[in-house]
Amino acid sequence: MVKYEYGGDACEDVLGGLQKIIHLQWNQPVRILIHVADCPSHGRRYHDLPEHKDHYLSSDNDGTIGQELFDKFVQLDLKYFFGRLTSHTDKMMEQFIQFGQKRISIEEINLKNFQNLLPFIVESISRSISKTTSSLLKSHSIVENNHQNTKISRISRISFDSIEPDWLNIPMKKVQVIKYQCNDQLVCEQINQSTNIKIAEKPFAEGAMRLAFYGLMQNKDKWEKVVLKKYKKIHNDIDMKEKYLELLDCQTIADHLAQEFNKLSLSTNESTSTMKKIKFIMTKLVFDPESEGNVHFFTIERFIDGSYKKFSNNAGYVNHEDPAVTLQAFSHWTYERTNGNMIVVDLQGIDIGDNQTYLLTDPCIHSTDLTRFGRTNLGKPGIKRFFETHICNSICQTLKLKMIENQSVTKTSSKYDSYFIEKKSFIINKSISSKHS
Ligand SMILES: [Zn+2]
Repeated sequence: MVKYEYGGDACEDVLGGLQKIIHLQWNQPVRILIHVADCPSHGRRYHDLPEHKDHYLSSDNDGTIGQELFDKFVQLDLKYFFGRLTSHTDKMMEQFIQFGQKRISIEEINLKNFQNLLPFIVESISRSISKTTSSLLKSHSIVENNHQNTKISRISRISFDSIEPDWLNIPMKKVQVIKYQCNDQLVCEQINQSTNIKIAEKPFAEGAMRLAFYGLMQNKDKWEKVVLKKYKKIHNDIDMKEKYLELLDCQTIADHLAQEFNKLSLSTNESTSTMKKIKFIMTKLVFDPESEGNVHFFTIERFIDGSYKKFSNNAGYVNHEDPAVTLQAFSHWTYERTNGNMIVVDLQGIDIGDNQTYLLTDPCIHSTDLTRFGRTNLGKPGIKRFFETHICNSICQTLKLKMIENQSVTKTSSKYDSYFIEKKSFIINKSISSKHS
């Protein structure tokens, strides 16, 4: 335990306290930081308190101390739980999220509801690992206050509306759409289209990095229900477009590989009964160049009702409760198919209940080409990590996939053994979405 205290003013040496964390002995693979605070860190970028409340107002003016700190947390693979006591820490936590980007999971603990912190943490970790219900500074109140349609997210101060709007009151917009298509060499090309959409004014859910909005998209004379996702404002627009295109690239490549893999399963006689089909939800980029000065980007995908599940992550996590052998074998197969240059991981999606198909979204690709697929592409170390926990199953064997050097042959990991880098998983809460089905 590291304690930080400073008596003189309302602010505290939070950064100093957190820096001590780095020098603790971190021997175990699951590394948890529980941070409880009622006061923000010194420095104008961490709070909006009056000047006399902070004797070190110019502390970490340019944010470099905080940034370095979080870069180290990322290296340590810390899972960060924050116990919020007052609103004074909100600006600080917004800063921390920016420092962490999507590389570290930060989850808010609701201290009021939990007399005993430990069971909550244990429950939280197992939940986040096994069911993809964790997200960055998740607003618990979405879950708790189902009866309230609108609520204010405490940390992000974003106003939410969990109810689908009355579409008659939402104006239609003509927007540009970019779709990716890839060839057998796994190179993508852009296809430009335009379409009419309607977007709900307020988001209905938030993930680590993005907000999710209900929407409608015109398809000939029909309106289809869609989900639009938008990054929370952190980067400038040029960076943003790149980030969205990386998502499209990733999803398109993953789906192309899945289609090849599905054909493979047809031609293999053995084990086909246990082999399911894999599909990735088609994602497109929407941008609205008409809004003055600002270009608004969204990803758009079909709205699918169902419960979200996480099967693997980008750091070697395997969900042993639902071993999803097909998906495990698929990841392994993508490595062979690409001659060891790529592996598709972080497999999460919707159980659509037919027991035949995995409908997946937001995969990660580790690639030897580090210029593609964004920050979650961990390159060769990411590939290595997959094989550290991957145990070849009957489908791997049927497909005659080769074991790689140092691959584990026995089950060494439990569901608590690996901490994963929380990426971009969305909570689409069942109780909310089921209202609209
Ligand atoms: Zn395998």
